[in-house]
This record gives sequence, C-alpha cells and structure tokens, in this order.
Amino acid sequence: GRKTSGAKNDAPADVAGVRITHPERIIDSASGRAKIDVARHYEAVAERMLPFLANRPVYLLRAPEGVAGEKFFQKHLGRTPISGVRQLDPAIDPSHPPLLAIDSVEALVSATQMGVIEFHLCGATADRIDRPDCMVFDLDPDPGLPWERMQEAALKARALLDELDLRSFLKTSGGKGLHLVVPLARRHPWKDVTEFSEAVTRRLAQAHPDLFSAKMGAQNRVGRVFVDYLRNQRYASTVAPYSLRARPGLGVATPLAWDELDSLTGAAMWNIDTLPARMASLDHDPWADYFLKKQQLTAVMRRKLGM
Ligand code: ATP
Ligand code: MN
Ligand code: MN
Repeated sequence: GRKTSGAKNDAPADVAGVRITHPERIIDSASGRAKIDVARHYEAVAERMLPFLANRPVYLLRAPEGVAGEKFFQKHLGRTPISGVRQLDPAIDPSHPPLLAIDSVEALVSATQMGVIEFHLCGATADRIDRPDCMVFDLDPDPGLPWERMQEAALKARALLDELDLRSFLKTSGGKGLHLVVPLARRHPWKDVTEFSEAVTRRLAQAHPDLFSAKMGAQNRVGRVFVDYLRNQRYASTVAPYSLRARPGLGVATPLAWDELDSLTGAAMWNIDTLPARMASLDHDPWADYFLKKQQLTAVMRRKLGM
C-alpha cells in the first residue's frame, strides 16, 4: 500500500535535493503509485544501481502520463536539460546528438521529474565503446509458458555457460522474463560477442529444442523460451539493474543470487512494493563480485560451441 497521501496536497516535494512537481500524480493504477514513489525508489536504490550506469550510454523510457499513457524512448537530451545528466562525447555516435550518461543520484531522480520510469544501458562504457564489457542473454518466454519451465530454461542456460567456464549473473527483467549477464573483459569487438552469443543460443536450441527457440517471432517460441542474443549489438540496450518497469505493478529488474531462482515466483515478483523489504533484509549484494569478473571468450570455448 502507498504511504503518500493522495492528490489533495500536490505541492512540489523534495527527493535527494531534487524538486519533484506533481508528486501525487498517480502513474500506475495497479499499484496506486505516484510520481513521488518513482523518485523515492531511485533514491533508495541509487547506491546499488549507479555502479552499473557509470560512464555508460543510458537510454531513458519516459511515460509522463504514467504506465497506461504514451511511452517514448529517449537517447539524447531534448529541449529541456535534465539536471546532472551528462552528455557523452559525440564521437561515440557521430551521426546523432550526444548520448547520455547518469552518474549521480541527483541525475537519476531528476530524470524521474521529467517522467522517466525505465533506464536502459548499452553494453559498453563510453571510454571503450567498441569493446563490450558484458554479454546478455535475454530469455523471453512464450506468454503461455508455465513459470517452472522458465526457471528450468534459466538453469539450462547457466549450465551451458558454466560448461564454457563463464560465470553468469541472474536478474529478473521486472516484466516477463529473466536476463543472464556475463561480465567480460573489455577486449572483444562487438562482432565477436554477437557471434559468440548467437552460438550459445543455437547450442541451447539444439540441445533442448522443446524448451528453447533461437528464432525471433512469437510463432517460433510457442511453448518455449526465445533466447534474445541481439541485446549484444553496438547500439542495443538492456534494462538496467534496479530499474522500474513502466508496466502495471511497476516491476523492478532485480539482481538475484542463483540460489534464489528456485523460490522466485515470477519475473515481476520484485516490484516497487516488495523490493524495499528485500533490500533491507539482504545481508550482502547478490552481484557483489560482478565487477570483479573480467572474462574472456577463448578458442577453447569457441571450439566447444562448434564455432
Ligand atoms: P521482458 O522480460 O518482458 O521481455 P525485457 O526488458 O527483456 O522485458 P524485451 O522486450 O525482451 O524486454 O527487450 C526489449 C529491449 O529492447 C529492452 O531491453 C530495451 O533496452 C530495448 N528497447 C526497447 N525499446 C526500444 C527502443 N524504442 N529503441 C531501442 N531499444 C529499445
Ligand atoms: Mn526480455
Ligand atoms: Mn527480448
């Protein structure tokens, strides 16, 4: 339930030193949450979230009228600056205006003042944009797939990566599916990571054809999980850890320890209502060693994948 007071007193409020106008404007009727709650969510997760955003192109999903209204993806500043949001070197994306980066709680919360609900990240940092530092497997289930099959799929994908000697980290998308993230040393060009992730996907579909599909399109994944490896491309993005989703219930993309998968009830189990208690009770960061893993894609791995 909401702790804020309803629409009667809608005077501007202050979150992390940022002025939030219309704080009581409801942005999701399913959870009853208002604009101020979005701002407070990001204030609360900032310490855990900001390391993932540091010096990395971020795309913003704005939904000024709330989750039921129009949504648009924003990769550049519009006419209104967002306080604290930094413009990156235009050379990173020469044919467009500068991409953006968020390095502070002020910038995170200021974005919510502008109606931002979701934050999406590129797979490389600004200082080495040609060398991704992660490889993402976005597991997209057929809408009718029982959740247990989704859990099984995540375990199978993890097992294959383990066989290759690649440590993977699990997160919910906050929507329908799960994401496996493999942190990489920043040395492989995009093409190599795209091809490698495609080979992993192909192998999964070959080994478990009843569970995985490597082909895009709803008709190809009926009763199965589509492994979307196309997040691993130069300008593609993936929802950031701890981002809210602009969907009914305001799910949160939540980093998990692998031993939590079994008791996970769905990709939106952790949401704006349930996350605070989780954060308060966790005694350590489930992704604590994420930034310590700088893994390489080797010839031995490629051979195992038949590449
Ligand atoms: P779910 O679990 O429900 O699949 P998801 O975050 O994995 O949630 P997808 O639809 O599988 O969502 O993935 C879409 C991805 O494409 C997002 O991660 C996002 O970063 C990216 N994306 C979405 N919309 C745009 C857009 N307009 N322009 C560029 N990239 C986009
Ligand atoms: Mn997905
Ligand atoms: Mn997808």
